[in-house]
Amino acid sequence: MAAIKKISSKLPNLPTSIFTIMSKMAKEYNAINISQGFPDFDTDPKLIELVTEAMKAGHNQYAPMSGIYSFRAAICEKVESLYGAKYHPKSEVTVTSGATEAIYSTISAFVSAGDEVIVFKPAYDCYEPAILGNGGIPVFVQLNNNDFKIDWNEFQSKISAKTRMVIINTPHNPSGTIFSENDMLMLQEALENTNIILLSDEAYEHIVFDGLKHESVARYPKLVPRSVICASFGKTFHITGWKIGYCVAPKELMQEIQKIHEFNVFSVSHPVQKALNEYLKTPNKYLELNSFFQKKRDLFLEGIKDSRFSYKPSQGTYFQLLDYSQITDEGDVALAKRLTIENGVASIPISVFNENQLDNKLLRFCFAKKDETLEKATEILSKI
Ligand code: GLN
Repeated sequence: MAAIKKISSKLPNLPTSIFTIMSKMAKEYNAINISQGFPDFDTDPKLIELVTEAMKAGHNQYAPMSGIYSFRAAICEKVESLYGAKYHPKSEVTVTSGATEAIYSTISAFVSAGDEVIVFKPAYDCYEPAILGNGGIPVFVQLNNNDFKIDWNEFQSKISAKTRMVIINTPHNPSGTIFSENDMLMLQEALENTNIILLSDEAYEHIVFDGLKHESVARYPKLVPRSVICASFGKTFHITGWKIGYCVAPKELMQEIQKIHEFNVFSVSHPVQKALNEYLKTPNKYLELNSFFQKKRDLFLEGIKDSRFSYKPSQGTYFQLLDYSQITDEGDVALAKRLTIENGVASIPISVFNENQLDNKLLRFCFAKKDETLEKATEILSKI
């Protein structure tokens, strides 16, 4: 079908996401797909029962714009009990179509033409299109090559009169590192006496290992007034396909976010909200996630311990980076594709998340997979 002649793209240089590319290749070449981050095991049957019950009970029409009240209240209780910040269910929480929508709605609500947004690289790939599409200017701070730590002096030097927003992500996708208390305090100090909004992507908040602590922004009373925290039920309850998450923020900020959410998404699946509301009454369902995924991380690491890859164990998220510099000096995109085609294991190259495609010879592997999938994949990786 022919389209009209002149279309000026708002995002002319935006490539297809690497997740789409690698998952498609994995299918095409029948490779083990440990690239895109989603579980290959099913969710708890109890949760499916709860959704079915909610549908049978007639909760099949629009939910309220910001989410059903009891569910919003349950989310606020969870945040307060874990991190201390008290959000009001009436005006300070919105149930969204995944964390991605929460992030998009937040960026869209606050970033206008010419506004600068500080983004740490490597960065998850949904921030930049949202910034650019709204006329904003991403300003990058590259994380350290070895440990993905932030140089807070460099960060400070990137703050300008035009800085409208800073985006952080902890636990961090794709590196699997987490912010320390010191990082949060440095951030707090740098933002003090500014009007900068902080967007905190905490999609992997319940997946942190080795007894480490998730440093939610909600633990920092001085950061809370400027912050929007975005979170994901997809990652927490193995339901990435249900596309449900939420964001919390002080009401003056939330009011603006809801103006975008209401006229784009309006409201999120009613029966799913009913089900998750019930499910949240058993906190162990998310509190046990750390040890559930730590076992999977350890199985993956055990499987590749005699390989030629080197690594630092992931501290959080369900991703593990492997350094292949002992094996080849091939580019990471080329290698990820070759391993998919020739060896039957699909992964994600990290350079696509870096400024100027900086290639540090790292591939990301998702260990949110059945043990047998991880065993098969590591057997192959060990022979490379
Ligand atoms: N969050 C997933 C990942 O990092 C990808 C989700 C997507 O493809 N949009 O792999």
